[in-house]
Amino acid sequence: MSISTNLAHVVENIRRAAWEAGRTPEEITLVAATKTQSDDVIRQAIAAGVTVCGENRVQELLSHWETGAYEGAQVHFIGHLQTNKVKYLMGKVDLIHSVSSQKLLLEIDKQAGKAGLVQDILLEVNLAQEPSKSGFFLPEVLPAAQLCTQLSHVRLRGLMCIPPAVQEPSENLPFFHKLKALAVDIKGKMGDNKTDMTILSMGMSNDYPAAIAAGATHVRVGTAIFGPRAPISNSF
Ligand SMILES: *Cc1c(COP(=O)(O)O)cnc(C)c1O
Repeated sequence: MSISTNLAHVVENIRRAAWEAGRTPEEITLVAATKTQSDDVIRQAIAAGVTVCGENRVQELLSHWETGAYEGAQVHFIGHLQTNKVKYLMGKVDLIHSVSSQKLLLEIDKQAGKAGLVQDILLEVNLAQEPSKSGFFLPEVLPAAQLCTQLSHVRLRGLMCIPPAVQEPSENLPFFHKLKALAVDIKGKMGDNKTDMTILSMGMSNDYPAAIAAGATHVRVGTAIFGPRAPISNSF
């Protein structure tokens, strides 16, 4: 299957899931998870209609950036981010989905300040409290969101989650609903008009229609567009 055929299929599924949920397809942004893909494949995907590339390794992002492979698309950072690498992303990524600790939040604010910009971010929530995964635990999310309002160089745009790997896509529905409810709750508690919290980043190749049913605005899809990756790259 070619990338453009796969992409058309994913776009069609997004449309269907949106209409079935009483939403419009325009509410949903497809983030193509381009990890491990070559410059050439990334260019093909953009030529086929991908408008946002999601990267999860700083090194890979920088190398694609240098060769201009992302031309014509936005770049989002979706993977685990080490504080010492934040500085390399400034000015290159429109959105960081995976802000998973207060330390990271403060570092992004600092580096964005140095670069003279305001960085759009999402807070990553570890809904199932899995020790092997990063992300804020439920009770930590509101304090982190409130901290964002004190920082002048980050703008909180919403929440993100990576639920546990499951067999049936529908098994993650409760997690997707939980993230949606959490976003609504936090928005209500923030009170002031400072929040532009409109984004819910959830859903991957095996469950993006379920995520859309539960309110996802951004789905991160790799395998369904590019085919299977080498096993070593499957871990987060
Ligand atoms: C790789 C990756 C995805 C996409 O995973 P697929 O199962 O290949 O669609 C989504 N989100 C994150 C954070 C990823 O690293």
